[in-house]
Amino acid sequence: MERRDIFTFLFKPKEKEKETIVRPPYFLNQFSFNKECQNCEGICANFCQEKIIVIMNDKTPKLDFNLGGCTYCDDCAIHCPTDVLNIENKQTIEVEIEINKEKCMSWHNTMCFSCKDPCLDDAIKFNGVFQPIIDIEKCTNCGFCVAVCPSSAIDFKNINDTKTK
Ligand code: SF4
Ligand code: SF4
Ligand code: SF4
Repeated sequence: MERRDIFTFLFKPKEKEKETIVRPPYFLNQFSFNKECQNCEGICANFCQEKIIVIMNDKTPKLDFNLGGCTYCDDCAIHCPTDVLNIENKQTIEVEIEINKEKCMSWHNTMCFSCKDPCLDDAIKFNGVFQPIIDIEKCTNCGFCVAVCPSSAIDFKNINDTKTK
C-alpha cells in the first residue's frame, strides 16, 4: 500500500452508527410520531415518572436508558393529547437487550453484580458467580440494568424500526 493510501485508510471518516430510538411502550404506528408530535410540547416527557423520556430534535420522544428504566406506569400514555401513545396499545418496549460478553467484567472473571440488583424481574442469570446472561423469557425490556453497568456492557437495539399499523 502506498503512503498516500495508508493515510487515506487511517483518516477515512468512520460510518456513523445508526442511533437506536426506543419509543415509549404505547404506540401503534411508528409514523404517527413524526406527524402528531410536531404540535406538542413534549407532554409525555413532563409526566414520565422516571424522567427517561427525551424529546429529540425532531420533536418526537425516545426513552433514554442511560437515565434509568421504564416502570410501565402508563403516565406518558394517559397524558398524551393525541392518539400516538394510548394505554390500549400497551406492549413490551421494542428492543432486544443483551449482555456484551466482550465488555462485561464478569465474563472476564471480575466479580460484578451491578446489573442483577435493579432487575426486579430476576431476569439476569449467573453461572455460579460469573458469566451473566439475560433470560429473555423473563426480561421485560425495562432498561433498568443499562445505566448501572460500570462497563457499559448492556447492549440494546430496536427489534422493529418500521412498525406500521
Ligand atoms: S410508562 Fe411511565 S416510566 Fe415508562 S416511559 Fe411512560 S411515563 Fe415513563
Ligand atoms: S405527548 Fe404524545 S403527542 Fe406529545 S410528544 Fe409525547 S407522544 Fe408526541
Ligand atoms: S431490561 Fe431485562 S434484564 Fe434488564 S433490568 Fe429490565 S428486566 Fe432485567
